[in-house]
Amino acid sequence: MSAGYEFVPLPARVRRVRRPEAVHDRRVPGTLSAVLSLTFVTEQQVHVGAGSKELVDDDVVRQGLLIHGRPGVPGASMKGVLRARYEAITRSCVTLKPSRGQVRVRSSSGIQSARLDDRLLDGDVFRAKEEAADGDLCPACALFGRMSLRSRVTLTDFAIKGDALFEVAEIPEQFSPNLHHVGRGSRRPSSEREHDRGAHFEVHELHGRKFAVGRGPVADKARWQKIEVFPKGSALQGTMRVHNALPRELGGLLVALGWKRESALKIGGGKGQGFGRIRLQHLVAHLRDPAGRAVELEDAWITMFERSEDCHAEGMARLVEIHQGDC
Ligand SMILES: [Zn+2]
Repeated sequence: MSAGYEFVPLPARVRRVRRPEAVHDRRVPGTLSAVLSLTFVTEQQVHVGAGSKELVDDDVVRQGLLIHGRPGVPGASMKGVLRARYEAITRSCVTLKPSRGQVRVRSSSGIQSARLDDRLLDGDVFRAKEEAADGDLCPACALFGRMSLRSRVTLTDFAIKGDALFEVAEIPEQFSPNLHHVGRGSRRPSSEREHDRGAHFEVHELHGRKFAVGRGPVADKARWQKIEVFPKGSALQGTMRVHNALPRELGGLLVALGWKRESALKIGGGKGQGFGRIRLQHLVAHLRDPAGRAVELEDAWITMFERSEDCHAEGMARLVEIHQGDC
């Protein structure tokens, strides 16, 4: 059985360097401006919640989000998915820093509390905050922005084509992994006096970045919720723009989009419960150099990305691998 999530290993070191292309006030030689019209096909039902509920035939249904009257995905959510994937395939920092402090866990192994140790949380991959201050940037912060630095990647909202509306599906109550499953560490047996509180677990090394895939376990007593989803087989359309993009950065973005090094993306709710799988089906690129001349998209940019020092090859191989088949 699947756990409902997999890990992509973190890079040994984050690559923080000067990145002159990470500016907005001028066009930088050697870069391109890109407008990519993207069409994804939904391979599973997709739930993007509107944050509201309605009563339908005595059932509470979590409503799906409408974009201009059509079921869809906000640009910010799409960008979040792409950033997480771009971070995973590059030697970038982790922007979603796990919290310091102890959490209570429920486990059959007797472990009742766990925490990430300080040395881990002070590590190189979690230094995103300090990064903006000294001017050196990791690949993902340079492209997707950080603190005062605006993102060079923007995405419109995505909406489904045609006249299909929502259908209603059922999903078990959310399941999240216990903290002692996210990494390697040590278990401290509880003393006699602490017996009631159970054993404690310290995580020293993370398995990596977590991605929800597969179908996780459903508790016997799980409560099921009704949700509005857009149907499998829908075409989801929107536009991505990139400013001052180096060809190898575009290569990395194409991999993050699941293009050529083919892999599916997961979006919305229930990603670890058989929902949210989408796949890039069609891409139309309009690219211009700083002089305004049209440029053709080249698959060679993906190879340039793979050969660049920004690429985290092990992470990329794993990200692609866990997003194959019925993920
Ligand atoms: Zn960074």
